[in-house]
Amino acid sequence: LDTPLPVPASGDEVAGLTVSFNQMSQNLSRAFQQQKQFAQCAAHELRTPLAVLKTRMALFRKKGLCTTPETAALLDVLEEQTERLSALVNDLLSLTNLDDLERSARVDLSQLLTQVAGTLEEAARAQNIAIQLEREPVTVLGNAILLERALFNLMENAVKYNRPGGTVTVRATRAGAYAQVEVCDEGLGIPPEFREQIFEPFFRVDKSRSRQLGGAGLGLSLVRAIAELHGGSVRAEAVQGGGSRFLLVLPCPEEAQCKI
Ligand code: ADP
Repeated sequence: LDTPLPVPASGDEVAGLTVSFNQMSQNLSRAFQQQKQFAQCAAHELRTPLAVLKTRMALFRKKGLCTTPETAALLDVLEEQTERLSALVNDLLSLTNLDDLERSARVDLSQLLTQVAGTLEEAARAQNIAIQLEREPVTVLGNAILLERALFNLMENAVKYNRPGGTVTVRATRAGAYAQVEVCDEGLGIPPEFREQIFEPFFRVDKSRSRQLGGAGLGLSLVRAIAELHGGSVRAEAVQGGGSRFLLVLPCPEEAQCKI
């Protein structure tokens, strides 16, 4: 969008169309930029009052001002919802800031997967869900924080939307010039008509169920944005016998495989 097409010197209809096309892409590019700036400003502006709310609530708790079970329960809800709003604002900021981040370090995906599995251990245990990792050393060039975030979102969903007592299986493999991470669960699965839409911001298959589980519908759009930023892709598939499989594919240049 940012590079205008060369306008033929002919001065004919094609030259006229090229000028119009260049103008249209310039306007579109400006509109994208404005939209991004708006989302960034909105998220930044929301951060300050949220921080104030959090510190005041912490103070309330610390000073022992919750004197009845009712006020204690109320404060729990307020804190929980403020945390949720905070996570949403952080996701929005991440989505709008992606382009500006460094992404050329060697990142060991297997190591990230172990880290993420550790972070999710408690949530998985609470639902009696086992996380099974099958890894081979796979290194890509990218941004470790973003890639960890993408893996976290996929694995968190696999825990969240799994059946109680189910298993989350995560496989990292290298296939030629690509690294592939598969995240499988044994949950309800995703109806075929929604398998693309789930990657759109704020889309949730079952709004009331997803809301109960705490999601705003930004997790997968962030995964897709991160995958694309690394020149890769992500898609959802059905698993025979129930459940979903998410496939994250990232280019894996030769030089990323040399010993770090
Ligand atoms: P949310 O915050 O709602 O989890 P996501 O963007 O991560 O947002 O996911 C979008 C929707 O896709 C979810 O609300 C859910 O309906 C569906 N979804 C995501 N992962 C899974 C999964 N592993 N199994 C079933 N449904 C899923």
